Parts: sequence; structure tokens; C-alpha cells
Amino acid sequence: MIYNNIDFDTYFKNYPDANGYYGKYGGVYVSPELEKAMADINEAYFTICKSSKFISELRRIRKEFQGRPTPISHLERLSESIGNGVQLYVKREDLNHTGAHKLNHCMGEALLAKFMGKKKVIAETGAGQHGVALATAAAYFGLECDIYMGAVDIKKQAPNVARMKILGANVVEVTHGLATLKEAVDAAFDAYIKEYKDAIYCIGSVLGPHPFPMMVRDFQSVIGVEAREQFLQMTGELPDAIVACVGGGSNAMGLFSGFLNDPVDIYGVEPLGRGEKLGDHAASLKYGTEGVMHGFNSIMLKDENGEPAPVYSVASGLDYPSSGPEHAFLHDLGRVKYDVVDDEETIDAFFKLSRMEGIIPAIESSHAVAYAMKLAKQMGKGSILINLSGRGDKDMDYIIENYGIR
Ligand SMILES: *Cc1c(COP(=O)(O)O)cnc(C)c1O
Repeated sequence: MIYNNIDFDTYFKNYPDANGYYGKYGGVYVSPELEKAMADINEAYFTICKSSKFISELRRIRKEFQGRPTPISHLERLSESIGNGVQLYVKREDLNHTGAHKLNHCMGEALLAKFMGKKKVIAETGAGQHGVALATAAAYFGLECDIYMGAVDIKKQAPNVARMKILGANVVEVTHGLATLKEAVDAAFDAYIKEYKDAIYCIGSVLGPHPFPMMVRDFQSVIGVEAREQFLQMTGELPDAIVACVGGGSNAMGLFSGFLNDPVDIYGVEPLGRGEKLGDHAASLKYGTEGVMHGFNSIMLKDENGEPAPVYSVASGLDYPSSGPEHAFLHDLGRVKYDVVDDEETIDAFFKLSRMEGIIPAIESSHAVAYAMKLAKQMGKGSILINLSGRGDKDMDYIIENYGIR
């Protein structure tokens, strides 16, 4: 399929290019030492991803450990409540081991570490979801695991900190600056530069310097591959539209990659939070501009000094001031439409899905559900497949405290 002069038959061969670019986005904007480490990872991945041993081992792990394939569920009662015939479906990443899609790339990254002969995996975490997924993968493979986390986040995310420790990870407290995610990223990169012979850095989304946006997309593409086949089997056709929430963008790229070459409308949903004012949302693709942060060029939200702006979302997994470079590329191309829903619409969808379908979604995933409900009303007919990136168990305390039972 040709779209806006891009041939999607050969898309994955051409994007990213040899230097890690999706059009003008992506690349490797890091110090010379880190550049060398990234080149090593790229070279190893290039060889390993074609090795039948690596591929069959990852396949076995997905089946026997993660519980894949995850099913697609038809949301009959929610569809009925919209009342115009549009049918909603969800891809159940909430049923992936540990309760979200993140384990898909963490198992891939840790298996890569194992194949490269590394002893340790290093990462930062904000809300702790990436830390827990990586600690799980490290435990499975018998790798050491250092998770850098801001002191403020450690206080806020006690259950996830406990999970990481139970899984055997070393949670390293970062106390300088504001002691949140940004400082944790810096500390993790610093540690990696010192330890890169024995360790590998594992990024938690389709972010960071090349090859991470590509590797994480490839590891997450299992979602799109499964979903396309399952949907065809269930209904005999492709969905008319697919929808996923976008923080860094890994669950979205996973689903989208399976449908880019199909006549399917694709929607990425960003968090509008409390409103359009800078600082009240994290809708980087909608309101941001081109810039470099954390080692890559993309579209980002900046403050008056050109630094990453403070962002907010009710979903802690979506409050990042940029998105992966491939999303910026697909945004400019128009192949994927990026839109927003606010906190209120999201919480409404959270309760609707719980009550009408018996599925308690993560607040992140509730953004996609909320948008799909709005889209269904506009479409009037057809079908929508939503990526349910994770389950809501982690959000119970927050919901009860801030919204009560609706
Ligand atoms: C982390 C997280 C997200 C956001 O990350 P992406 O890289 O944008 O997918 C979305 N949903 C859940 C459940 C998460 O844990």
C-alpha cells in the first residue's frame, strides 16, 4: 500500500534507515562513549534478530512463560450501549504475564543481554512499571538488575518498589535535583557508561537513541501480528479502525506495526490531562515541536528554555514530554492520526469497561477505550480494535482515593 509517497510493502526494510532515522526523527544524540555502546548493541541485535536460535527461544518464552498469545475479546455490552452498530474489540495485553505489554520488550531485551554474554541489566523507572517488568525478566534469566529510581518516586510507588525487591532487583535511589524520572534517567546512563562491558541498558519504550526505538518496536510487534490474525479469524475481516494510547509509544507501535500496510484507520491517543495549558497534559505530538532529548530527535513539549517541559497525566505511564521518533514520523506523514482524551473521559471509560465487561483496565489503557467510544459514535458503523495495554490492579488505591466508586 502506498500512502503519501511511502510504500508500506517495504516499510520495515526502510525505516529506520541505517543511521536509525525515521525521516528526520530518531538518531543517536549521545556522548562518544555511549555512541560506541549503542553501536555494539545495534550490531549484536542485527545478527541475533536473524538467528533461528534467538527467534525460537523468544517464541518459546512468549508461549510458556508470558502466556501468549493473549486473546481478543468482543465488547458486546459496551458496543450495545453505544447503540449504532459499531462493534468494539480489545486485544488483551492485560492478560500478558505481569499484567501489561511491557514484558514483551523486557523479555526480548534480557534475552539479547544473555546472547551478548552480559551479566546485568540496567534501567530507570518512573512509576515502576518498567522496573517491575525488567526485574521479572532478569529473575527469569538469572541476570543482575539495577533499577534507578528517584527518591520521590520511591516514596510514591511503594508496592512496585517492593515487587522489584522481591524479584531480586537492586533499586538504586537517586536523590539529586527533583529526584524523579529525569534524574533517574541521567543516573542510569552514567552507571551504564561505567559498566557497559558487563551490562546492557534496557529502555522501557520506543524511545532513546537508535537502536532502541527499533528493537522495542520489533519486540512489541507480536501484539500486531497476533491481533491481525486473531481478528481475521474471529470476524472474517480486518477492523475498520485500531486505537492505542501513546506515552512513549511502545504498545501503540506494537499494535500499529501489524496494520500499517492495511486499509485500516489508525489512531494514537495522548493524555490531555486537565486541559490544554502547558504543564496540564502530556500530549507531546499534538502540542509539541521538534527537538532532541534523552538521546533522540522527535516531537517534544519544551519549556521557555527549550528544556523538556513539566507534564501531567492521570496515568503515570503516559506522563512523558515526548514520544518515540517513529510516532513523530507517522504523525507528520498522516498515516496515524493522533488525538487526545482528558482525565474525565478516561475515568468514565475506566468505570464503563469495568462495569459492563468485567475488565478493569489500567488508567493508561482507559485513554484508548475512551477515545474508541467517541470514535464509534462518529463512525456510525464498522469495527474498532483497541489495545488494552494493561490491567488496572495497580491503579486501585489511586482511583478509590481520588474518584471513589462510581
Ligand atoms: C507504561 C504503560 C503504557 C505507556 O507506555 P507505551 O510505551 O506508550 O506503551 C501504557 N499502558 C500501560 C498499561 C503501561 O504500563
